Amino acid sequence: MEMESLQELLVEEMRDLYNAENQLLKALPKMAKKASNPQLKKAFETHLKETEGHVQRLQRVFEKLGKKPTGKKCAAMEGLIEEGKEMMAEDMDEDTMDAALISAAQKVEHYEIASYGTVRTWAQLLGDEQTARTLQQTLDEEGKTDKLLTDLAESSINIEAAQPN
Ligand code: FE
Ligand code: FE
Repeated sequence: MEMESLQELLVEEMRDLYNAENQLLKALPKMAKKASNPQLKKAFETHLKETEGHVQRLQRVFEKLGKKPTGKKCAAMEGLIEEGKEMMAEDMDEDTMDAALISAAQKVEHYEIASYGTVRTWAQLLGDEQTARTLQQTLDEEGKTDKLLTDLAESSINIEAAQPN
């Protein structure tokens, strides 16, 4: 499609995110199920709830802009989830699997952080403060999740995974 303005690019990028979030809604329960560490399991479950909120926030922005949220497939999220699936199919002990799950989840969060940071900034540039604030709320939750995963990895999970069984 031909895009003539930053406004159109913003809408396209939000469609990409909308599809990415919906893909993630299906993947997170599987990751929670696969996690052994109770805090990690909980982190995935909490982020699943937040992700439902991310979808709803995007829907609200689309409504406000009078646009449809559908029509795009996020190939990047599809690839990240596919790699995660491949890892989850490997034969690993529980601690190693938890470390692998964190790495897959952080790749996803970093992708979301990059994308939300971009659309938030575009909304600001376009003078749409309300949209910028809404996108910032999601960006903050993605950031918090990423930080929590780092904390879990550094405080215990990677250490346990590094221990010989
Ligand atoms: Fe999200
Ligand atoms: Fe996320």
